[in-house]
This record gives sequence, structure tokens and C-alpha cells, in this order.
Amino acid sequence: MRKAKDWNQPCPNPVCDQYQRMNQGNISAIATYATQSGTRRIFKCRDCRGTFSETRDTVFFDLRTAEEKVMMALKMLLVRVEFAAISFGLGVTEETLIEWLRRAALKAEAINAHLLREVHVTHIQLDELWNFIVRKCSHASDAQGESLAESDDGRHWSWLSYAPEYRLIVAAFVGSWTFESVLHLIRMTAAVVAGIPAFFSDCLSTYLPALVAVYHRLKVFPRTGKPGRPRKPVLEPDPELVYAQLIKQKRKGRLTVLGERVVLGAEKLARLGVNISTSLLERLNQTFRHALSPLVCKSRSFVRHARR
Ligand SMILES: [Zn+2]
Repeated sequence: MRKAKDWNQPCPNPVCDQYQRMNQGNISAIATYATQSGTRRIFKCRDCRGTFSETRDTVFFDLRTAEEKVMMALKMLLVRVEFAAISFGLGVTEETLIEWLRRAALKAEAINAHLLREVHVTHIQLDELWNFIVRKCSHASDAQGESLAESDDGRHWSWLSYAPEYRLIVAAFVGSWTFESVLHLIRMTAAVVAGIPAFFSDCLSTYLPALVAVYHRLKVFPRTGKPGRPRKPVLEPDPELVYAQLIKQKRKGRLTVLGERVVLGAEKLARLGVNISTSLLERLNQTFRHALSPLVCKSRSFVRHARR
């Protein structure tokens, strides 16, 4: 039996005791095989006796194309070379390109999730960006004319939270115009940031209850000693929570800020000394609308699938 050594390879078997643990002395290289990108090793885990390839759990696993070619295609996509142009230049089908992109996107998400933890930010901008998916008209709607959570409606929103200090998108997802979506956005944000940052948004009424649902404490009332049922504990916003809204109005197609309203934590906000603003995130949304043709308002293109 070959000796185990430090290969910088964790065991990829989820049921193994050494799952994803590095340098535990359990991994041996047992064989090699040839690929278009050179020789690859096969490893064996001493604990679970499982074998796996060097490229397991990477973008390149089980691809028949040379790694360099895949990287070249991904780099070209990054600098916005058209699919048809890459497909022609590298001699691969557009379906193959989409598959490589999908793999890379999944990896990027996993790396993001690993790296984005306990991020120290003082304030977060929240915003939503509407778009149509599947069709350009809405059918089912509630009393306010908004789409229902369960409806297969054409309208969808990209929900975003953004840390202006680092120009960082903290959380983003596509969902319906509902309280659950807002709550999901706040939960995703809370999972990434350390402590409780200040939150700024537009006047959408569901942000406040969603923030309180995530950042709260239970207020318990002391017993009075008088007869009768004791008062039930109530949820109240965490004293550290700061939330402010920008009041805006559209005039002749232009958005103007009429004022701002500090909803929670005025004292802490003054101490932090940050301006109430969602302008950077709105600017970013404009960039998205400009760069991604399906998000362009009043255009003929639209997104056909929520996710590919
Ligand atoms: Zn193992």
C-alpha cells in the first residue's frame, strides 16, 4: 500500500468522517490517467475506502475538453464576448458553453458562500428590480395589483441587498413581490453580515416587518401579582436595529427624493454618521438594466426561464 501524504485533497465523500477535511493523512494517490489537459491522479481515502479523481468537485470534472479551452471560454464570457462568437472561435456548441457557464456559476456560488461570512458592514441598501419572466403580461394579481406568491405570473423581482462600503452584493435572488421574498432577502443578508448593520430602502411596507422578524428580542412582562392571566411576551425590534426609508416620487419619468424617514434606531444612526441613501444600489440596477438586454425596460427581449 502506498503511503498517505499531504496532497491538499479533502475526501469528497459526505458520509466519511474525514469529509472535506484537509491534511488528515487519509489520502493516498493510487493511480493516474491521461486527459487532454495532461495526467490526472486518482486518490483513495483510507477512512471510507472511496476513490476519486483530482478534478472531482471542480468545474473540469469529467469534461472531454482541455481545461485551457474551458477557461478561455469562461474568460471570454466575462468580458462579454457573444456566445455565437465564442462558439465559432473555439469550435464548441452554444449548449456546451451554457453548460460550462452553469458549472462555473454553481462553483462561484459555493465559493461566495464559503468566503462571505461574518462580513463587517455598517449599512446595507435594499432594493428590488422588476422584470418579466416567461411572458410579458401579468394575469393573476391581488387587490394592490401585485402578483400572487403562487401564481405563474409574468412579473418577477430581483431582490438585492448591497454593502456600499465594499461595493458588494451581499444577497440576491429572483422571486415574487411578497413578504416571504423580503423576509428571504433579509435572512440571506443576516447570514452573511456580522452583527446588525443599518438598513436603508425605499418605502415598500414589507421591509420593516421582515427586518423585525429577523432582528428582534422577546419582551417579557414581569408578573404583577394581581389576579388574572399574565401578559403574553411580545416581539420587539432589536435595540441595535437601524432602519430608514427614502420617500420618492416619479415626476415626468424622473425619480426625485422627497425626503427620508428614520423608522428605527435614530440615535445609533446619528452615531454611525452615514447618509441615508440607496443611490449606489439603484445605480447598480441601472447598470444591470443597461448591460443585460432582458432587463432593459420597454425592450422586445425578456427572460424565458428563472434559472438555467
Ligand atoms: Zn473518505
